[in-house]
Amino acid sequence: MSKRELVKPKYEIVGELERIDRADTVMARRHLIPDSELWQSYYRKHPDLEAQSRKWADLQKSRKHRLRIAPQDELMENAMRFIPNVMAKEEYVDGEPAPEKIVIDPKRASSKIKGFARHLGADLVKIGPFNPSWTYKNISSPDHSGNPSDIPAHPPNKHAIVVAIAYKQDEIECAPRFTIALATGAIYLRLSTIVVTLARYIRSLGYEARAHNHNSQVLHVPLAIDAGFGELARNGIFITKEYGSAIKPMTVTTDMPLVYDRPVDIGVDEFCSQCNICVKYCPAGAIHIGEKKTIRGVKKWPLNASACFEYFLRSGANCSLCVAYCPWTRPRTFPHNFIIKAFERSNIARKSYLKVASLLYRKKKMKIPSWQEEQPEEWRKVMKPNHPLYR
Ligand code: SF4
Ligand code: SF4
Repeated sequence: MSKRELVKPKYEIVGELERIDRADTVMARRHLIPDSELWQSYYRKHPDLEAQSRKWADLQKSRKHRLRIAPQDELMENAMRFIPNVMAKEEYVDGEPAPEKIVIDPKRASSKIKGFARHLGADLVKIGPFNPSWTYKNISSPDHSGNPSDIPAHPPNKHAIVVAIAYKQDEIECAPRFTIALATGAIYLRLSTIVVTLARYIRSLGYEARAHNHNSQVLHVPLAIDAGFGELARNGIFITKEYGSAIKPMTVTTDMPLVYDRPVDIGVDEFCSQCNICVKYCPAGAIHIGEKKTIRGVKKWPLNASACFEYFLRSGANCSLCVAYCPWTRPRTFPHNFIIKAFERSNIARKSYLKVASLLYRKKKMKIPSWQEEQPEEWRKVMKPNHPLYR
């Protein structure tokens, strides 16, 4: 075990862990069709949230005209949703394992799974325990049809294989423009394929396996942290040593005997405690500036997901400024690799970096790829007037 590896993850659990109801997530609420039966039944129970959801539905309708995203680019985003939506069907994410088990030594099986996932296009793959607290309550199909169930499929699944793909540096530097929406769509498309293929492979070896893509029963972020991807950050996602937080995960749960990676301490918690760069750059005011709070049994920095999502709707893309400006996401040049190593070990390095950080952040280049259409500067209009990107 290296010095950076831990026996248990670094986040602090305070009391009982409470599972999230999937119907309460922003991503579930955005799929409700105004005044449909499901809409009415949800907002009868949550009348205080209905006006906000109506506002989202109106913003969604007027998005294209308001933001003047070139239709030829918006259609690319739509086209990229087709395969992940197909792959989200129960018949693809899950199924019966082959009747005969092929027994493989857990160490060898883990190395095969990781190698195969990388072969399919994953940048990082790690294996950890599957903590049932990191499952949603009231699981139904992604469009909320069907009967919600409180029991995740295949409770015997004990292990979580988390696979992740990183953004390319030039994509992340275009945040918050439409380029980032196209990049995210491409990552989800590839991840959906990888987890469905991995789960299918494991089932063909005779073990239970379920892919959690757009039809997820699990929370990828805590599972990724438990599997050793990195640490929970102020911006609500995890930070890895390799790619900062410019990375998206998906999960396969299984009962196949595998060897776990260990959770890690890479200095993120200490860094975020004294850094507020993402707070400054968040145009939605969604990131918390103060101390951590206890949320469903975990001490962490709260994130206002509704405010973040509303900014997505207003700006036309999935923003990601908190990712783009995070010091851990800067390009891994030789000096920056050295800086990341210093962040891990030394509080003097963290403090010194933060003193000069504001000078480094003015040089951001925002050149969109030549095959994409230039988006007019509408996205700027929905930022706070004193936002650093106005400069
Ligand atoms: S994605 Fe944008 S709006 Fe959402 S928290 Fe990050 S900076 Fe704020
Ligand atoms: S910008 Fe700073 S505070 Fe925000 S996630 Fe990155 S290191 Fe943490």
